[in-house]
Amino acid sequence: MFALEISKLEKEYKNGVKALHGIDLKVKSGDFYALLGHNGAGKSTAIGIICSLVNKTAGKVKVFGIDLDENPTALKQNIGLVPQEFNFNAFEYVLDILVNQAGYYGIERKEALKRAENWLKKLDLWDKRYQQSRQLSGGMKRRLMIARALMHNPKLLILDEPTAGVDIELRRTMWTFLRELNEQGTTIILTTHYLEEAEMLCRHIGIIQQGRLVVNTTMKSLLSKL
Ligand code: ADP
Ligand code: ADP
Repeated sequence: MFALEISKLEKEYKNGVKALHGIDLKVKSGDFYALLGHNGAGKSTAIGIICSLVNKTAGKVKVFGIDLDENPTALKQNIGLVPQEFNFNAFEYVLDILVNQAGYYGIERKEALKRAENWLKKLDLWDKRYQQSRQLSGGMKRRLMIARALMHNPKLLILDEPTAGVDIELRRTMWTFLRELNEQGTTIILTTHYLEEAEMLCRHIGIIQQGRLVVNTTMKSLLSKL
């Protein structure tokens, strides 16, 4: 079973920028996959397309066998997205952010509160639950973004540069959390421009350069060639 199947994916933005030139990629269910590439390589575009935030120009995307063109709503149920930029309502309370997110997926309040408690405790944010998001530090906001993405128990978690601007101590805490989540069965795809981060976490790695996937291999095999 594949968590993600992409074929011949192309994106040309309206201003004429060609961000993706025919990407083919398969990620197996249960995998931990890193998409590595410099700024501007096309990582965010690819993620945006998978999560229906950006329209593709051509190609196919399937998530757990569900075709993006046929059933984007069902596809989105399977994905949790942690975007690069914070996008919280500054005045919303931490607990409300999570419960409201669950509400978008039709999860009832009692169940949502149970899930929120679980993730807030695991991400060391439980004592912040009655704070507004604007009162949180950058590192706390990063962790809250992860908690929010997990509220509907997605089978695939996608993180766009999850540790950008995060200090090394918190980075390690996040790595441990993500590793455990993957061991419990969640497929994880992250983008990064640190090879070290990919090396610490991921079994498979793709390197994207100017909209093309130039490497797609196991981490072991890549490291043996360096
Ligand atoms: P789509 O083709 O998916 O509809 P658009 O071409 O309409 O996307 O662009 C979406 C938005 O991104 C627009 O508001 C546009 O101004 C903005 N944008 C344009 N160029 C860039 C860029 N280089 N990086 C990030 N955002 C950009
Ligand atoms: P990465 O995530 O690897 O940094 P992006 O997918 O953000 O790369 O960008 C790929 C290319 O597409 C870049 O040339 C970028 O400027 C361009 N781009 C990204 N978003 C838009 C947009 N909304 N409109 C036009 N061009 C964009």
